[in-house]
Amino acid sequence: MSKDSSHHPSSDMEAFAKVLASSKHIIAVAGAGLSAASGIPTFRGAGGMWRKYDAISIATPTAFAANPSRVWQFYHYRREKALSANPNDAHTVLTLLSLPPLRHQLAPSSTFTLITQNVDGLSERALSDISATFEASGMDIKPAPGEQPRLLEMHGKLFELTCTSAHCRHSELNFESPVAKALQGTEDLVEAGEMEPDIPVEDLPRCKKCGSLARPGVVWFEEIPKHLETIDKLVGEADLCLVIGTSSTVYPAAAYAEEVQSHGGRVAVFNLERSQGDEAADFLFLGPCEKTLAKAFPFKIDCL
Ligand code: NAD
Repeated sequence: MSKDSSHHPSSDMEAFAKVLASSKHIIAVAGAGLSAASGIPTFRGAGGMWRKYDAISIATPTAFAANPSRVWQFYHYRREKALSANPNDAHTVLTLLSLPPLRHQLAPSSTFTLITQNVDGLSERALSDISATFEASGMDIKPAPGEQPRLLEMHGKLFELTCTSAHCRHSELNFESPVAKALQGTEDLVEAGEMEPDIPVEDLPRCKKCGSLARPGVVWFEEIPKHLETIDKLVGEADLCLVIGTSSTVYPAAAYAEEVQSHGGRVAVFNLERSQGDEAADFLFLGPCEKTLAKAFPFKIDCL
């Protein structure tokens, strides 16, 4: 994002509420900070396995081809972490924003899509849990025919297994713990920075359809993110972009806010600390997003 040096982002919640109320096409671009309060380590922040391992040496197709055992231990560890975590208040606020009857309280004639870089599945869990609660209380929150997607997981899912065989490529959701018997207990080694060197490839997760080696259904460095066509369209028409808990260093997501501003839209950043390009934002709300989002989106709800 670029703006002249006299520009300072505002932290005025009332001014934000006015912009929100008149917004027609809202998107949120989220990163690892969204799940920090759920106990899932961020990539560049303090703590967790990302400090002990060079991501580039693990999260690439080349790394998987060279050493699938090592890569699978890392993803097994991340699956176990995500399985024992729960969505936090920031996931809840974004879910409410994605449900038209709730969103229309604050932005009466708007659309919304959450575009997340996270692979932990917590946004999807919040969406299905909260939707179920509303449905049980008789509120109609089912997506209307033709409604734009509420959630796009652009870096894929930890809980998807994809076949590596070019003839098969079968993909399916899998929440098993452990994902393969041989990986059981290796999560403690990963945490300690000592991965088990060699689990035989036949004992790693296998495709349920053809039996070939399976890989995690995430998008690695060097691979193309998912849903790009839909995302480009949404970014192109957005007049408000919320940038939540991301260091804004991983592309293409890092460029979306600037694109929205370049066609006259507004940008609001929610981050624990200063992040790349935030000096050009229209609004900057520093602090834990599970707190700042709840303030910025004061929904009135009876049944949660
Ligand atoms: P990042 O680790 O680079 O940045 C995290 C950002 O979140 C930082 O700017 C930090 O200041 C901020 N943050 C930390 N706690 C916060 C909180 N409570 N409230 C608000 N902000 C907070 O993560 P990134 O920008 O998502 O990019 C890293 C890549 O790593 C992505 O591609 C993503 O797929 C992957 N990743 C995913 C997960 C996950 O699925 N939960 C976790 C780690 C990394």
